[in-house]
Amino acid sequence: MSILTLPAIFQKQMTRSKKPKVEIDAAKHHDALARVDGGDQYKYDPTLTAAGCRKVGVRFMSGLFFCYVCQPNNTNKPRVWSSGKVCTELYLSKDKTTYRAVFNAQQCQVCDRYGRFKVKEKKYVDKVLDTFALWTGQREAYESEFHKSTGPHDSSRCYGCLKGICVGDDDDDADDGAYTKKNSKKNRRRRRR
Ligand SMILES: [Zn+2]
Ligand SMILES: [Zn+2]
Repeated sequence: MSILTLPAIFQKQMTRSKKPKVEIDAAKHHDALARVDGGDQYKYDPTLTAAGCRKVGVRFMSGLFFCYVCQPNNTNKPRVWSSGKVCTELYLSKDKTTYRAVFNAQQCQVCDRYGRFKVKEKKYVDKVLDTFALWTGQREAYESEFHKSTGPHDSSRCYGCLKGICVGDDDDDADDGAYTKKNSKKNRRRRRR
């Protein structure tokens, strides 16, 4: 074994020990959110569940996925793809003071493994705060045309779709009532379509 092979082995072990998660908690982006106007009223709680929440819904975020298993031409660089429709669960507590966000990973088109995710943080922060403004009655729902997110969404590679929570649209109406008892039947029907 030559000394040149050592970094490759090391890299392989790193990859294995840090397996990408299918559900990625957004705790590390809280500092950025708290720095924005209006963001400091919220605290992050990674233990929040739907039961303790005023409202739970899905929004789409943008970002990049990296697959470290697929390294084209042995360049040591991961395969990268961007997505503007990353299924993201948002939780807001009953007293409106704590929240939680969870990104759902997407699978690599080449090897089918889930990629590691890097969110576009500024956009994420704006969207979370905008959603909470709606949920706490600080703003009206937008006309859906304004707020609709476009772009492809490969349901067969989205963990949110696999769980059955991905709503397809990103307008205020689509979120409204997602996870709530009143509309749960309606939403389930929509998702199956
Ligand atoms: Zn891959
Ligand atoms: Zn999906």
